Amino acid sequence: MYAKVIVDISHEKLDKGFDYRIPAHLDGEVHPGVQVNIPFGKGNRIIQGYVIEVKETAGYAEDKIKEITSVVKNSIPIESRLISLAWFIKENYGSSMNQALKTVIPIKETKKSVVRKAICLIADDEKLNTAIDKYERKHATARLKLLYALKENREMAWTLVQKLGVTLAVAKALEEEGLVIIKEETVYRNPIKYTDLLPYDIKLNKEQEKISKCICAYIDNNAMGYGGVHLIHGITGSGKTEVYMDVIDKVIAKGQEVIVLIPEIALTYQTVMRFYRKFGDKVSIINSKLSAGERFDQFERAKKGEIKIMIGPRSAVFTPFRNLGLIIIDEEHESSYKSETAPRYHARETAIHRAKGEGAAVILGSATPAIDSYYKALTGEYILYELKSRAKESKPATVHIVDMREELAMGNRTMFSSKLDELIKDRLAKKQQIMLFINRRGYAGFVSCRNCGTARKCPHCDVGLTLHNNSKLICHYCGYETPMPKTCPECDSKYIAAFGTGTQKVEEAVKKMYPTARTLRMDMDTTSKKDGYEQILSQFSNGEADVLIGTQMIVKGHDFPNVTLVGIIAADMSLYASDYRSSEKTFQLLTQAEGRAGRGSIDGEAVIQTYSPENGSIIAASKQDYTEFYNQEILYRTISEYPPVVSLMAVQLTSKDDSLLNVLANKIKDMIGKAVVDIKNIRIIGPADANVARINDVYRKVIYIKSREYDILVKIKDFIEARFEVMEENKRASVQFDFNPMSGF
Ligand code: ADP
Ligand code: ZN
Ligand code: ZN
Repeated sequence: MYAKVIVDISHEKLDKGFDYRIPAHLDGEVHPGVQVNIPFGKGNRIIQGYVIEVKETAGYAEDKIKEITSVVKNSIPIESRLISLAWFIKENYGSSMNQALKTVIPIKETKKSVVRKAICLIADDEKLNTAIDKYERKHATARLKLLYALKENREMAWTLVQKLGVTLAVAKALEEEGLVIIKEETVYRNPIKYTDLLPYDIKLNKEQEKISKCICAYIDNNAMGYGGVHLIHGITGSGKTEVYMDVIDKVIAKGQEVIVLIPEIALTYQTVMRFYRKFGDKVSIINSKLSAGERFDQFERAKKGEIKIMIGPRSAVFTPFRNLGLIIIDEEHESSYKSETAPRYHARETAIHRAKGEGAAVILGSATPAIDSYYKALTGEYILYELKSRAKESKPATVHIVDMREELAMGNRTMFSSKLDELIKDRLAKKQQIMLFINRRGYAGFVSCRNCGTARKCPHCDVGLTLHNNSKLICHYCGYETPMPKTCPECDSKYIAAFGTGTQKVEEAVKKMYPTARTLRMDMDTTSKKDGYEQILSQFSNGEADVLIGTQMIVKGHDFPNVTLVGIIAADMSLYASDYRSSEKTFQLLTQAEGRAGRGSIDGEAVIQTYSPENGSIIAASKQDYTEFYNQEILYRTISEYPPVVSLMAVQLTSKDDSLLNVLANKIKDMIGKAVVDIKNIRIIGPADANVARINDVYRKVIYIKSREYDILVKIKDFIEARFEVMEENKRASVQFDFNPMSGF
C-alpha cells in the first residue's frame, strides 16, 4: 500500500502530493489526515507531512519510492482533522481532493492586509446627548442612527456602519463637529468594540429550560460517543435562539468552542448583536464579504483560542477550533447550506460528520424543518424537541386563502384580491406596515408576442429573457442583454409584452391603486448595489415606507414590529418548479412569509392568493401545521421514491458539442447498467436534458440514480469517474456529481 502525502499545508503546495510506501510495521495506522514523518529531498531530511490518500498503486517507479518513517504520535493537529473532513467531502460529494482541501483549509494570502476604516465616538455623554437632541429636532435620521449605534458600542467597523445605511458623508459631517473620529486600521480586529454592553438577562421559560437541560445532559454523558444531533422544531419567535445561547453558555464554561451557522441572508446586525451582547468578544463572525485573507485571519484567531464562538454561513463549519463542543445550525432547512459549486457539500451533514469525529454535539433549529431532518428525528437518528408557542405574547397571524380564479370570475382583473385590497386599505389608514411577497425575482415571465406567440429567448441559453425596467431584456443565466424591441421581430406586431407578475409590476400596481402608499422594492435589481439589501431593510424598519415588495429575500428572519399584513401575491409559482422539493419549498416560504405578520403587539393577518387553493402544501401552510404537511409529503416521497426515503445522485454532463454529449450520456448509462446488474434497488433515470438544456452555449444533460443506500451511489460515482478518465470524450465534455441535489440542474 502507498500513501499520498502533502508536506506543507500552505496553499501553493496543495497540488503536490508525494507518494510514499507504507511499511509493514505501520500497516493499518496510516489513514488520510494522519500526520507522518517522512524522508524528504536529496538529503532525506526527516520532515512532517499529512496523508491525504491511501492507495494500492504509486505514481512512480518502485525503486524510487521512499518509505514513511513513522506516524507522529499523540498529535492530532487541527489540520489533520480538517484533512479528514476534506476526505469525507471528497468521498461523499464527488470532487477532487484538491478542491475539497481548498474548501476546508482557509487560504493564506501573502498580500498586505487591507486598510479598514472604523468610526470611534470621542464625544462625552453630555456632548453626545446635546447632539442627539439637536438631530432629533432636525429629523436627521442617518446621523441619529449612527450616534445611537455608537452610544452602544463606542467604536464600530465601517462595514457595520454601512449596514445601518449610513454614508461616509454623514460620518465625515459628525467628525467635523468633533463627535467622532474616522480611524483607519491595518490589522483585522473584531468588528465591534464592547465597552458598555447592556446586561443580558433573559430567563428561559419552562419549555426552553427542559430542552436546554436535555441537550446538555447528552453532551455531559457523551453516551453516544459524541453529543448527538438535536432538532428543535419551533415556530418563529418561539425562543430557539435563547435555547442555543443557553447551551452555548454551558459549553464554553467547560472550555469548549462553538460554531453557529446562520444563513448569510439572516446574518443581520440584529442577530449578531444578540450574540455579542451575551458573549462579548468571545464571538467573531465571518461572512462572504470577507476576503480570503480576512477569513484566514478569523480562522487563525479561532485556532489560537482568541475566540470561542464563530458565527457565519455555510463555510464557518470549517472553523479550526481545537476543542469543538457544539455546532448549531439555525434555519437548518435553508438550501443555502448546500454548496452550489463543487464540492457540493451539505453543511448539515458535514457538521454532523465533524461532530462525530470530534465528540461534539449538533443542534438543528427550524420552524419548518427539512423533510430529511424531520424524517431522521422521527426514526430516532436525531433527538426531537418541539417549541409550540411564541416566547413573547404575540399570536401567529390569521391566514386567509383566496382563490384567484373566483376573483377573475367576479370580474377582478387586478393583482390584488378583494380581501387583500380591503386589508391593504385598512393598514394604510392605520399607518401600519405591509409586506407583499412574490415568489420569484423579476418574474416578468416570458416576453412574448400576443399576435404570433413567439417568446424572446436567450441566444446562448435555453431560457426566456426577462424584462427589466421596461427597457431591456436580460438572461439570468449568462447575463446576455438586449434592448426590448418595440415590435415583434417575427411578425412586426406591436403587441409584444411581458407576462406574469414581477416585483416591478407589483410595485407599479400598488402605486396606481394606492397612490398615497410609499413603497420600497427588494429584488435582485435593487439589491445588486453594495449594501443595497441592508439599506432597504433599514429604511423599511425606520418607517420610511408603508409597503415593502419583494421576493424570497424579504421573508427571511427580519423582525418588523409594525408589519401587520403580509400579502402573498402568487403562492403557486414555486409549485410548478420541476423539482421534487417544490412543495417543501412552497410550504417553507409561505410559513415564513406568514411569520412576518404580527411580530409586535398588534395581531397580524396574511393573505395567500393562489390558483390552486386545494393544494395540500398551501392548506397546511395556511394552518401553519407542519405535521400535516410532513405527513402528506413523506407519503409522496415514499410512493415516488425520493429522498429521504432513497438517496439520489445527479450525474451532470456538459459539453459544447450536442451530439458528443448525447453519445457520452448513453454510454455512461449503459456502463452503469452493466456494472451494477448484481445490485438490486437501484434505479437509473435518464439521460434527459437538464432543466436548462443549454447555458452559455454549453449543452447539459443529466442522469439520475436512486438507491436506498448512499454508499452504493458513492461506489457508482467512483466507477463513473474512473471510466470517464480513460474515455475519449473526456477532452470535450465534463462530468460532475450532485448528491441529494437541492435544486434542479
Ligand atoms: P426564534 O429563534 O425561535 O425565532 P427567539 O429566540 O428569537 O425565537 O425569541 C423571540 C423573541 O422572544 C426574542 O425577542 C427573544 O428575546 C424573546 N424571548 C425568547 N425567550 C424568552 C424568554 N424566556 N423570556 C423573555 N423573552 C424571550
Ligand atoms: Zn409576433
Ligand atoms: Zn443566456
